[in-house]
Amino acid sequence: MNYKPRKRFAQHWLKSDKALNNIVEAASLTNEDRLLEIGPGTGVLTRRLLPIVESLVAVEIDRDLCKKLVKSLGEKDNFLLLQGDILSIDLEANLTSFKKFQNPNKIVANIPYNITGPILQRFLGTISQPTKDKYDLIVLLLQKEVAHRLTAKPNSKAFGALSVRIQYLAMTEFICDVPAIAFYPPPKVDSAVVRLFPRVIDTPVDNPKVLDTLLKLGFANRRKMLKNNLKSLMDVDLLTQLLSELDLNPQARAENLSLENWISFSNLFVKTQSISSV
Ligand code: SAH
Repeated sequence: MNYKPRKRFAQHWLKSDKALNNIVEAASLTNEDRLLEIGPGTGVLTRRLLPIVESLVAVEIDRDLCKKLVKSLGEKDNFLLLQGDILSIDLEANLTSFKKFQNPNKIVANIPYNITGPILQRFLGTISQPTKDKYDLIVLLLQKEVAHRLTAKPNSKAFGALSVRIQYLAMTEFICDVPAIAFYPPPKVDSAVVRLFPRVIDTPVDNPKVLDTLLKLGFANRRKMLKNNLKSLMDVDLLTQLLSELDLNPQARAENLSLENWISFSNLFVKTQSISSV
């Protein structure tokens, strides 16, 4: 299907077989899966997914593209295309009369990179408000740098506030690199496939707002130690005490704390605050 890519909608058509295969494989699909695809575009990925799954609902913002896509895919009883903005569309309302497509359990998508953050927030939520309805699996093709940040381990350069925030909400896995030339037109950046398993948060952090603030300030200047970045929140003695309870060095930087460390650190800090305010 031919369609001139529109910049305004961040349209880059994926043309690499290898990348398409890797995405499909990463989704571990079965004939019971009900998929949600974001931005099907010309349908290259859609065509591969449809024969494997029970149903696929796709949300595409580009009206002209929607018309063409429906024509080119033809009538398929397990495919439903919704025209709209993935960030604002009311999926549940749109699916009320389409039983087969309700409650999709996986998302598979080559997303528009300009709205990566908002897409993650829509489907995972935030530390303060994790989404209630959880997908089993989310496979995304996105900007490589973001892929590395989402899947980074502590003590690495890519490990930042975004890593902790997303990993609080989902287990993340880096699947593979996808070079810019795998697309038409090639984006300015390289890409990568990641896989996210949204988690049930059994023991949520005591005060999500505090964790949020600690992350924001803690990672504000990556070269600085926590004791400097968090100066406005706690004095060095308190920080040293909290870090030692976590078996961490007083010179620690934000990137040295694992997700579990951040949760404990936040909880311990909240405790000291409530004691001192009694
Ligand atoms: N999946 C296709 C296209 C990826 S490009 C492929 O792999 O070739 C991103 C797609 O997302 C485009 O089709 C674009 O029109 C669509 N898109 C952009 N913003 C969107 C939004 N807010 N909601 C839904 N779709 C959007």
